[in-house]
Amino acid sequence: MKYYSTNGKADRATLHEAVVKGLASDKGLFMPEVIRHLPESFFDEIQDLSFQEVAYRVADAFFGEDVPADTLKQIVYDTLSFDCPVVKVTENIYSLELFHGPTLAFKDVGARFMARLLGYFIKQEGCNQVNVLVATSGDTGSAVANGFLGVEGIHVYVLYPKGKVSAIQECQFTTLGQNITALEVDGVFDDCQALVKNAFMDEELNRHMKLTSANSINVARFLPQAFYYFYAYAQMKKFGKADQLVVCVPSGNFGNITAGLFGKVMGLPVKRFIAANNANDIFYNYLQTGEYHPRASVQTIANAMDVGDPSNFARIYDLYKGSHAAITAEISGATYTDAQIAETVKACYETNGYLLDPHGACGFRALSEGLREGECGVFLETAHPAKFQATVENIIGGSVDIPEKLAAFMKGEKKSIPMGKDFAGFKAYLMKQ
Ligand SMILES: *Cc1c(COP(=O)(O)O)cnc(C)c1O
Repeated sequence: MKYYSTNGKADRATLHEAVVKGLASDKGLFMPEVIRHLPESFFDEIQDLSFQEVAYRVADAFFGEDVPADTLKQIVYDTLSFDCPVVKVTENIYSLELFHGPTLAFKDVGARFMARLLGYFIKQEGCNQVNVLVATSGDTGSAVANGFLGVEGIHVYVLYPKGKVSAIQECQFTTLGQNITALEVDGVFDDCQALVKNAFMDEELNRHMKLTSANSINVARFLPQAFYYFYAYAQMKKFGKADQLVVCVPSGNFGNITAGLFGKVMGLPVKRFIAANNANDIFYNYLQTGEYHPRASVQTIANAMDVGDPSNFARIYDLYKGSHAAITAEISGATYTDAQIAETVKACYETNGYLLDPHGACGFRALSEGLREGECGVFLETAHPAKFQATVENIIGGSVDIPEKLAAFMKGEKKSIPMGKDFAGFKAYLMKQ
């Protein structure tokens, strides 16, 4: 299958090229040329299939032409070594818990899948080591580092701003060792991102080593996120709640919800979607006005959604051929202030005994306010509340248990290499590797 660019000026790419390049040469995002409809028989039996079986059928529709069946199956099964259960919160609102992976957030699924697919392409080519550079303000670095841990032929450099990520987040990429190197940059997140961007543009460095990125616009990180929408539907069908299903996605860069929209094109019987924003309400405003005005992001307590110019808007726009009417027919929006998010975490905990994280809280609230007569809703609980321990404890006025997996990271020995924010020093370091 070929991949075209949303900007329409780059040559179409193979899957291999799209995964290695990340972004098309005209700076557009890659889109698969064909989105296959899955047969009715699949949806008839979906409730009897395991998560891995459901995911493999979806993966086959995207990647089956380009990856041998046994390899693809192995990649899917290795990626999904954990469950994504749907849990009842109220009579007609359910939580799709995406936090049972190694770093307790949904980004684990895409990062693990991408690592394995890239590992396969590298092995097939028999080429030299590929180096992944990733700048992080916290969550992406931990998901990518853990996703790529131990994958042969790939070395990962995580650049993070010194003193600007939480202790728990820092442990998740500084204690791993093996093929993961953490670089502690004396600067802010934007400095880390600038170092990575400069590295990709430096010809001498690119002759010296093969560099690639693993950010969320990569098709190999983005498309696998469709898997759990199908599995959520399967579970809701088992509960007898799938007839008028509304899916609500706490959104920042809009990769996650876009994967769900792809699922709908493939025939997944979802009635409609809700995109829940924090105060960064650029998409919400687009839905209301038909105009897209990116802004600088503002900081909130749901900080993984602090995005002022969501990259994947380009994919949504392309999917609906630029029609505002078509987009608003399938997606509605919601936006919440920090005070409303906090209020929701507290109220849901006290009323339903279910502890939300600040991101999932936006999703839960949007369903609580937006469900219509006869509908049932699933929201994506995108991270475990313990990842935002201080914020959540402050809100509920009680303590949050740290899951074993997270605690294990805290026990590891932190190792990182101090790095200045000037490119010359970073380049000199890489040239010695
Ligand atoms: C990344 C992230 C989001 C936002 O997902 P997008 O795909 O960028 O819209 C929401 N919640 C959490 C916890 C995240 O880490």
